[in-house]
Amino acid sequence: MLAGAAASVALAPTLGHPLLSVIWGIAVGIGYSASLRPSGHAYVDNLMTGAALGIPMWGVISVIALPLLSGQTPQWSADQMRMHFPALVGWVLYGALLGLFTQGLTDISETVLGPEAEGLSPEPPEKKRIVILGGGFAGMRTAECLEDQLQDETAVSITLVSDTNALLFTPMLAEVAGSSLEPSHISTPLRSSLYRTEFIRGRANKIDLEGRRVILESDLASDGSKPPREIPYDQLVLALGSVSNYLGMVNIEKYAFNFKSLLDAIQIRNHVIEMFERADRESESALRSILLTFVIAGGGFAGVELAGALNDFAHGILADYPNLHREDLSVVLVHSRDRILPELSESLARYAQIRMESRGVTFRLNTRVTDANFSGVVLSDGEIRTRTLVWTAGTAPNPILKSLPVEKDKRGALVVQNTLDLPGHPGLWALGDCAAVVDAKTSKPCPPTAQFALREAEVVAKNICAELQGRPKRLFHFVSLGALCVVGHQTACAELTVPFMKSKSMRFSGLFAWLMWRGIYLSKLPGLERKIRVLMDWTIELFFPRDIVQTIDLQ
Ligand SMILES: Cc1cc2nc3c(=O)[nH]c(=O)nc-3n(C[C@H](O)[C@H](O)[C@H](O)COP(=O)(O)OP(=O)(O)OC[C@H]3O[C@@H](n4cnc5c(N)ncnc54)[C@H](O)[C@@H]3O)c2cc1C
Repeated sequence: MLAGAAASVALAPTLGHPLLSVIWGIAVGIGYSASLRPSGHAYVDNLMTGAALGIPMWGVISVIALPLLSGQTPQWSADQMRMHFPALVGWVLYGALLGLFTQGLTDISETVLGPEAEGLSPEPPEKKRIVILGGGFAGMRTAECLEDQLQDETAVSITLVSDTNALLFTPMLAEVAGSSLEPSHISTPLRSSLYRTEFIRGRANKIDLEGRRVILESDLASDGSKPPREIPYDQLVLALGSVSNYLGMVNIEKYAFNFKSLLDAIQIRNHVIEMFERADRESESALRSILLTFVIAGGGFAGVELAGALNDFAHGILADYPNLHREDLSVVLVHSRDRILPELSESLARYAQIRMESRGVTFRLNTRVTDANFSGVVLSDGEIRTRTLVWTAGTAPNPILKSLPVEKDKRGALVVQNTLDLPGHPGLWALGDCAAVVDAKTSKPCPPTAQFALREAEVVAKNICAELQGRPKRLFHFVSLGALCVVGHQTACAELTVPFMKSKSMRFSGLFAWLMWRGIYLSKLPGLERKIRVLMDWTIELFFPRDIVQTIDLQ
């Protein structure tokens, strides 16, 4: 509250009303400090996070809410937004000061008051072992929240097992495939982000619910003489995410690129450059067109963002290939329904399609990809000759869960109770993309998104602590904040939930939505260093052409 009030100094000229500035400053300050993860002396990190938050606040308050309150329409045309630029400076300054002051006050209170009193019983006979499987949004956030809540609790150990050693920030994955961002800049190392969790880089191979242990895959480097490592647990959190689901179509699985991991994005980028190189030395125009046809299956967020990014990338690098022409190039998005982006309202989805079409993307709606071979892709209503198919049209929960003797839904996701534990299995929790979670208030199924995975993680951590302390558990309820989707350079669609108006949402598109997308996701990207790296990549992208260096293909 104090930090918000102090930082509101920067808002006075922006909002033009000192009292309003202080009230708003305090309200945001309370929210900010409540969501702050206490870590010692993280001044620069908080400064950057707060400053990045200033961008969406500028959009929501200065560009939309204030004009609406004064009886005008929202001012998000390019000219109007230029007029509001001084306000943007004020908001960013306010955010930066808020971050700085909040961290300062946290440090002061820790110094004066000392560490918080211990929450659990002082000397339990044996350490309770909490094991988390999966280092994605759900697993990582569960570990972070448990660390916060069990700060001084030495009688509990936390272990995180993941087959990758970094948290992948998937909302920015399309930008890696489109060569806007360096791959490692959107991955945050798990080891350095967690301070009291034991991190094990390994693949869970078997989960033995009876014996309460997890068996890891044997180390590839070992000669087989050593038995695989076993990890016993008292509480087990399953946050193993999902994999691509090819719906039994083996040829598609064989020929298509996945688009889920960092390696997938690197491979897609390298492959696109490879196609340009080959097309450049191809004399036959028909073959050139085949090489430069890129097909993406699936018109959800991942597919649309990838199509937009690849289209920009392909058009952007044409200048480096003097033998190739715009007409040779084709990015095709195949989608089984009559409109893309089912997660957004129809008007925004249409807007996205029109903008993408005007930039050269072709849409094949009401069409399914049914087969693939070396020379192309077979559709329900024809064929496309291509060397590139990326599959984003289906996902299924992690296959390792198939063998568990617990209830699953028809997708294979683990059915959990409203408290996110599995019925009949004390100490077993599941969340994120691998779980079928139903909202406790609305009884609606929760979508498999990072937004929900992060909130579920907070409840799982609280409920584990509650179970250890014999307190009642919380029910999971969360109202989506909305959805954002980039459809190409400097263009995005956003649909934000209005908290005080039931089933109402605010819709934005174009440059304004794109700025919101960048501001919001930059503030959510974990770690100051990553934020700076991504900001630098975005700045470089403004002045220089996309990089066409082929990087090492790890497979
Ligand atoms: C391209 C793309 C863009 C997206 N954009 C958005 C977006 O803008 N907004 C949004 O809200 N959501 C978005 N999503 C969805 C979001 O990424 C997922 O909902 C979210 O990652 C789910 O979190 P999770 O922790 O359940 O799974 P994941 O993040 O997939 O994490 C699973 C973890 O488990 C590990 N793992 C898997 N198997 C094993 C094993 N056997 N042993 C050990 N570890 C294992 C994996 O390495 C990984 O670390 C996007 C997804 C994609 C693919």
